Amino acid sequence: MIINRENWLRETIPPIVAYIALDLVLTSIFIAMSPSAVDIGAIRPVAAIPPKITELILVGLAPGLVASFAFRKIDLNLLTLSLAFVVLLDADHIPAALGFHEPIRPAHSIAFLLILLAVLTFTIKKQPEVELIAISAFLGHMAADTGEFSLLLPFSFAYSNLDPYRVPLAVGAVAFALLAGYVKYRRYKKASRLVQKGMIANENQSQASV
Ligand SMILES: [Zn+2]
Repeated sequence: MIINRENWLRETIPPIVAYIALDLVLTSIFIAMSPSAVDIGAIRPVAAIPPKITELILVGLAPGLVASFAFRKIDLNLLTLSLAFVVLLDADHIPAALGFHEPIRPAHSIAFLLILLAVLTFTIKKQPEVELIAISAFLGHMAADTGEFSLLLPFSFAYSNLDPYRVPLAVGAVAFALLAGYVKYRRYKKASRLVQKGMIANENQSQASV
């Protein structure tokens, strides 16, 4: 079997729901906190949306495939999470899509990543690869994005352009994806060793009782 999809729904739906909820909550809070002089979050022209979605899908698949390389099997769970996390980061466009004035991109910030990691750590237990693929997806998305972002909000709403940092961001994305796949590989290895040990112990027990 070259594709792993063990506990696919159980391991993908809770992190994705947590991600969307947090994205929308922080988007509302950070927009309410921001000075509203400029309109950086304005939605792009309709014609530019399908190419952007195609780009996000391609960027979204990349961390999952890199993680699968380290996992030594296509891991449908990490692939689904990386795709969802990369695409859903842009859910902070929703207020602009609904016609609201949007002076910042709230999810395109270090605060979003840190709070996301805290939420995932407290809600998703014993799957450290979820946090690692979330970091990879964030870095990968930022590497592919163009424009200006208030990275340090809510402490500073100054805008910065990430274009000069595309390569380090992409390298970071690949590194965290490899780590996610490797951590999951080790977790599975350990679990299968425990199962084997349990089987041997059971066999010994049943032999002893004969
Ligand atoms: Zn974006």
